[in-house]
Amino acid sequence: MSPVLHVGIDDTDSPRMGCTTYIAALLVDELTNLGCTFVDYPNLVRLNPNVPWKTRGNGAVCLRFACDEEKISSAMRTIVVIVKRNSDLAHKRTDPAVACLRGEVPAGITAFSKKVIRSVAAVREAEKTAKKFKISCISLKGRRGIIGAIAAIGETLQGDHTYELIAYRTPQTRSSPRKVDPESVLRMDRETRPLTFNNIDPETGRILVTPRGRDPILYGIRGENPDIVLRGHGIVKANEDVERWVIFRTNHGTDDHLSQVPSVAEALPHRPAVVTGKVSTMPHTIPGGHVIFELRDGSGAIDCAAYEPTGSFRDAVRKLVVGDLVEAYGGIRKGTKKYGHTLNLEKIKVMDLAQDIRFENPRCSKCGKRMESAGRRQGFRCRKCRIEDTTARKIPIAVERELALGMYLPPPRAHRHLTKPITRYGREKKGPGLPLIEPWHWP
Ligand SMILES: [Zn+2]
Repeated sequence: MSPVLHVGIDDTDSPRMGCTTYIAALLVDELTNLGCTFVDYPNLVRLNPNVPWKTRGNGAVCLRFACDEEKISSAMRTIVVIVKRNSDLAHKRTDPAVACLRGEVPAGITAFSKKVIRSVAAVREAEKTAKKFKISCISLKGRRGIIGAIAAIGETLQGDHTYELIAYRTPQTRSSPRKVDPESVLRMDRETRPLTFNNIDPETGRILVTPRGRDPILYGIRGENPDIVLRGHGIVKANEDVERWVIFRTNHGTDDHLSQVPSVAEALPHRPAVVTGKVSTMPHTIPGGHVIFELRDGSGAIDCAAYEPTGSFRDAVRKLVVGDLVEAYGGIRKGTKKYGHTLNLEKIKVMDLAQDIRFENPRCSKCGKRMESAGRRQGFRCRKCRIEDTTARKIPIAVERELALGMYLPPPRAHRHLTKPITRYGREKKGPGLPLIEPWHWP
């Protein structure tokens, strides 16, 4: 039996160029040609999206394959050459790294991986993990890339996971606009939903399978299993040559990054979190269209923000009132001297609704119209009847709530890669992934 290698790759791209998944796609081809046998789809592992020094999707990849003993060194050489050739080494924030583990993935690496997905890990922790579990690491520049490369190895996607078929453009077309036929994407969505997700933004009609940047990705189809994403790929009309495509297994759309923190005070900056508490200020809209409210529990309070790009999600947030019990999901942004930390809402679960009490002015005893205030603590008066009632008080009225209990999410165009869309609730997987189908990559 040939030994199985797990090769993690991270931090090859920059805001201006490159794509770690494309490197994985190239390597699938090269390693297959070398005679290596893949034991899983390439894993695309999204790491903590709230780490401030990461600008893009923060995705790392892991290739898991069996390789004959005598071919291991040439496989590793190929990997390093291709990573080097396709990384944006000149960019100051790019630190490409490759990590390689032989044999089974120990629980200790998986634990490290969960930390990198849900929190923040230091380079020295990555180095300690590498040493303890005999992971060989190659950094092409700085050392920071090894954090994600090791994390990709450790996230074996044994719990919930999804699949994404990514098709790539040829070098000739990469700088021109994509011409993917929108009608074909609509048809693909109709025929494969809900087993595929986030193909289209229903609010704006925007096509979401095609990225907007200059990266080599033509489109990505996300779904619950390899067959459905392959079927979707068969329906979409690219209107340009596809250089290659690969099915990835991934933590996209699984909320892998979100974990419950025990109290508001323990919601720390740069971490994605689920915080439970009561709404303690009325939601208000600030310039720019962002909606803010304060969430409180016995330990403290934190501002929660639904940003303008979250669209109609803000309408639900605006309907919250003081006293509502909610679970707020999102990344914690570090506060300033003046303001505390802010939770950038990715979704919100309304768990209990408080009574919405509004106060109305009393009615005039003569004409029945609403009176007006006669001044602070001076009661009310009716102008028409010239009546003043110094003992009158505002009348509390219970307003019917327009908000229902349940989960509220922004429209798909505002989702993070990791955000679990509403259509995936109830479809969470347990256990390992499905076996490789044929074909799972091309060429
Ligand atoms: Zn009156």
